[in-house]
Amino acid sequence: MPVSLSTRILPGDPLIYLHGLGPTAARTLQSIGIRTIQELAEYLPRDYEHYGKPITIGSLQKPSDSPVLICAQVISINNRQSYRRRLTIQEGLLSDESGSLAVTWFNQPYLVEQLSGKIAFLRGKVGLYKGTLTLESPELVRDPSIALGKNTVQPIYPLSGKITSKQIRYWIKQALDVVSRTPDILPPHLKEQLRLPDRVPALRELHFPTTDAARELARKRMTFEELFLLSLFVLRERASLTQVHARPIPLVPELLREFVGLLPFALTNAQRKAAWQIVQDLAQPHPMNRLLEGDVGSGKTVVAAMTLLACASAGGQAAVLAPTVILAEQHYVTLQQLLRPFGIKIGILVSDHPDIKKTKDHLAKGKLDIVIGTHAVLKPSVQFKRLQLVIVDEQHRFGVKQRQLLKTKVRLPNHLPHLLSMTATPIPRTLALTLYGDLDLSVLDQKPKQRQPVATKVLQKKSQALLFAKIKKVASRGEQVFVVYPLIDASDKVSARALLDEYQDLCTELSGISVGLLHGRMSDQEKNQTILRFKQGEFAVLASTPVIEVGIDIRNATLMVVMSAERFGLAQLHQIRGRVGRGSQPSECLLIPDAATDKTRKRLELLCSTDDGFALAEADLEMRGPGEPFGTKQHGQISFKFATVLDSRVLAQAKETAVELLQNDPGLRSWPLLRQRVDRVATQMHLE
Ligand code: ADP
Ligand code: MG
Repeated sequence: MPVSLSTRILPGDPLIYLHGLGPTAARTLQSIGIRTIQELAEYLPRDYEHYGKPITIGSLQKPSDSPVLICAQVISINNRQSYRRRLTIQEGLLSDESGSLAVTWFNQPYLVEQLSGKIAFLRGKVGLYKGTLTLESPELVRDPSIALGKNTVQPIYPLSGKITSKQIRYWIKQALDVVSRTPDILPPHLKEQLRLPDRVPALRELHFPTTDAARELARKRMTFEELFLLSLFVLRERASLTQVHARPIPLVPELLREFVGLLPFALTNAQRKAAWQIVQDLAQPHPMNRLLEGDVGSGKTVVAAMTLLACASAGGQAAVLAPTVILAEQHYVTLQQLLRPFGIKIGILVSDHPDIKKTKDHLAKGKLDIVIGTHAVLKPSVQFKRLQLVIVDEQHRFGVKQRQLLKTKVRLPNHLPHLLSMTATPIPRTLALTLYGDLDLSVLDQKPKQRQPVATKVLQKKSQALLFAKIKKVASRGEQVFVVYPLIDASDKVSARALLDEYQDLCTELSGISVGLLHGRMSDQEKNQTILRFKQGEFAVLASTPVIEVGIDIRNATLMVVMSAERFGLAQLHQIRGRVGRGSQPSECLLIPDAATDKTRKRLELLCSTDDGFALAEADLEMRGPGEPFGTKQHGQISFKFATVLDSRVLAQAKETAVELLQNDPGLRSWPLLRQRVDRVATQMHLE
């Protein structure tokens, strides 16, 4: 039964070295990110199947939906052709000491020879066939440990389709054997101190659990390892940044004071504090690496503008990177307004822009102080004369590779520009400090004072008339409305409302009111035009897909309508809602679900009850429960195999342990295996 593989096969080898795993299966596994034997060993089951112990035929009284395991002799078995249904049926009789039972299979004629007269372990559902109890298409259980009721719990893997869990089990057993040939990566004293089991037994337990307690401990061990590797990685990154230089940008308090004086509002304390932390960082001879975290509408752009002002006034150049062209255009307009009085020259660099060549030329010659664009600004063809600052909007973490790219943009050896990342995704502080431990954190935990919370309500789909009346009323006050649909056009796969399907009806219903249209299939130029026209008040209503989700700032918009609201995640709905309530007028958000299960109703109600992104994020974590991995979209690109949102204690433990270990041995010289794994963390956790 268990094959023995050549001892020369190592964990890092490709999957096809495993017995019974061919190129097609290897390709399928590769498509879900499993390339090596090691990675297969770490592929976790999504659930377990309970095989139970064999029972006697005599104890079967009625049909049963859950499969039973039987050990019996196959007294007779014959093939029968069913011409009508175009298949062959294998009919047989099983017998044990307690009685006999009919059995059927379909299209497995070879079973006749294989099983005739034999004693076999068979597992299947019991149904009624022609009035008698029958074991239906049972699985032939060949693994003696399952058959005898020892390993009664068997894993079921997420992968479905052509590859069965039974096949995966067979490969995983081999993979575990291969992996067991290499030593553990955790230092023994840590395992002892934290009472964690060894690696391979832990993995084995996760696939083929013996008890719930042992499985939980195994999961803890792998979670610890994962978070420990990440902690070591971020701490090492952080330490390495202190070895890199940056041109210090001197502090100019008078200039910043002047800037603040020109604003039509007073800064919040949180903005003031963040700006202060940032300019302190800029004055250092090492690169700033700071994350500015602030809920939607907390005013991150003004803080960015102050950072840019400090840089430009010191003669440095800066780049602002936005996730979309729309947002780049918006920043361009806003920052120009804010920085115009200081004679700062700003250019924009997005594809299809007529001035690309000129902008590049001016950047290289140092005639521009600031360039705003998408990540394309980092392309090799874009050269700077004196790049000293990079601001990245709506991204938590700048990848390792991206940072390497920045190095090439600075003309001095071993130098990096100062870096400020900005995000509206509320990450609870403890989580942020570990996940982004290589970044310093500034939090805008206050919203501008005159800002009023967005009154949020759930509206039933059937109340269309009410909705249209509301939109008309808002428009008649000269204010503006967003109507968001989850889809562009109708789809067979997802039942949700679609923009292009309903746009005409919306226009008809709102006759006399101009309705704009915005979606992701429009060209960047069309999108920008539309946003600009909306901003200028050319139409009162903008019907859109979630392309408006991030960052768009239209202060006159006071009503947000979300169709098929249950289709969106909480964080996303909060972002979408954040597009209104940015001025001083009261604003409203109407969530219109198609159908609401208890769970979605609870989610939408949560949104109605609070406007605080942090509170929402935490409630969301709790609601999603233990199964949910950390690395969902909510928390950026990091993807975890083992850790879940409820593992905050293990997270803290992993971080503490990492700090201690690095204190004694910064280069991890005593633990070469561990060091190798840390080197690979960036690739494996998608931190690139
Ligand atoms: P976000 O943090 O979501 O990027 P923005 O920077 O776009 O938010 O700011 C949202 C709006 O709030 C903008 O119109 C901005 O001018 C305004 N704003 C920023 N700071 C303040 C403040 N302290 N008081 C009043 N309004 C402010
Ligand atoms: Mg913003």
